[in-house]
Amino acid sequence: MPKSISDLRRKRRQSSKSPKTRRQIESEWYQSKEWRTVREESRREQRQKDEDRIISVFEELENATSSDLYEFLTHKKQYPLCNHCLEEGFITVGNVCDHIIPIKRGGAKLDKSNLQWLCHDCHAIKSGKEAH
Ligand SMILES: [Zn+2]
Repeated sequence: MPKSISDLRRKRRQSSKSPKTRRQIESEWYQSKEWRTVREESRREQRQKDEDRIISVFEELENATSSDLYEFLTHKKQYPLCNHCLEEGFITVGNVCDHIIPIKRGGAKLDKSNLQWLCHDCHAIKSGKEAH
C-alpha cells in the first residue's frame, strides 16, 4: 500500500534535522566544564597579578584616572585588567576571556598562555578584525 503524502512529509521532517552549525558547536563548547574551569583559573590568576601590580601600572599610565583605579578595585566580579586598554594606557576592567590566537586559527583552546582578558569593546574590535 503506497504511503500517503502526509506520511512522506512526516518522514522527511524527521530526517531533515539539520546538522549543527559551527556557531552552535562553538557555543556548546564555551559551556563545557573544561573551558569554564580553565577560564576561572585564568581569571583568578590574572586578577591576582593585576592587583599586585596595579599601583605601579597606575603611576606609569598618563591617561589613567582615579575613577578607573576605583572601578578596578571595587569591581564586584574581580576581573583582571583589559590587556589591550592597558597597552593603550587605559585602565579598564577586562571581563571577556579571549583566545589570543583564535581557536579557528589553531590556537590552543585550554592553554592559559593563549588566554587574555579584554573589555567588551576591545574584544568586539578584535573579533571584528579576525572575521576579515
Ligand atoms: Zn579594552
